[in-house]
Amino acid sequence: MTAELKGLEAFAEVQRLIVVAAHPDDLETMCGGTILQLIQRGVKVFSVNCTLGDIGTQEAGAIRPVLATTRLAETEEAARILGLEQTYNLGHHDGELIPDLELRAQIARLYRLTQADTLWTFDPFWPGQIHPDHRAAGQAALDAYMPSKMPLYRPEQLNEPGASLGCLKRVFLFSTDRDPDIFVDVTGVYDTKMAACLAHRSQFPQGEESLEWMKELDQRWGRPIEAIYTEVFKQIDVW
Ligand SMILES: [Zn+2]
Repeated sequence: MTAELKGLEAFAEVQRLIVVAAHPDDLETMCGGTILQLIQRGVKVFSVNCTLGDIGTQEAGAIRPVLATTRLAETEEAARILGLEQTYNLGHHDGELIPDLELRAQIARLYRLTQADTLWTFDPFWPGQIHPDHRAAGQAALDAYMPSKMPLYRPEQLNEPGASLGCLKRVFLFSTDRDPDIFVDVTGVYDTKMAACLAHRSQFPQGEESLEWMKELDQRWGRPIEAIYTEVFKQIDVW
C-alpha cells in the first residue's frame, strides 16, 4: 500500500495555496499540520471560511452575532499562530450553506484576488461527509474553479485592485475517506497545530480534552505510514 502513497512532496510545486472551508476551525483541525510545514517552506496560505460559525455552541441562550464575532477573533488568533497570509469570511449562516451561484461567485472572486495556484477543500463526494456545510463548501469551491478563469464570468471582479483571471492548477481534497493518496506526517509540528486549534476556545472549552477526536483521527491515518500523527488528502485531476 505504501508504495503508491505520497507525502509532503505532493505539494512541492505549491506557492500560493487557498483553503476553502466551511467553519472557523475546519482548516486548523483538518490540515493545520500540513499547512505549517508548507508555510515553513515559504508558501503563502489564504484561508476562506464560508460561514460565520454562528450556531457552533451548546449554550441555548447564546446570541448568534456575538458568537460570530468571537469566532472571527478566534480565527485571526489561529491564523497568527499558523502564519497564514490572509483570512476571509464569506458571511453565510452556519448550518445553512448552499452551493449556489452567489457562493460560487464569492469564491471565484477570491481565486482571482489571491492568484492562488492550488486549492484545498472538503471532499464533497465522500458519502461520509455528513455535515451539509462541508459538502456545500467543497462543491462550491470546485464549481468556482473553471469560471474564475473565464474573462466573461463576473468581469467586474477583474476591476478590483490586484485581481486577475484565476490561475489554479492543482486541487486537493481533505476530510475524505475515499482512498486518500497523500499522507503527510505532522508529528513534528503537532504542538503548534494543537495551539492553533485551541485558539478556538469557544469550540474546545476543555482544551486538549475537547480535541481527543482529532488526535484519534490523526493517529488512525498515521498507521499506514507508521507516523504518530498524519493528515491525508486526495488529489483530483484538473486541467
Ligand atoms: Zn466544519
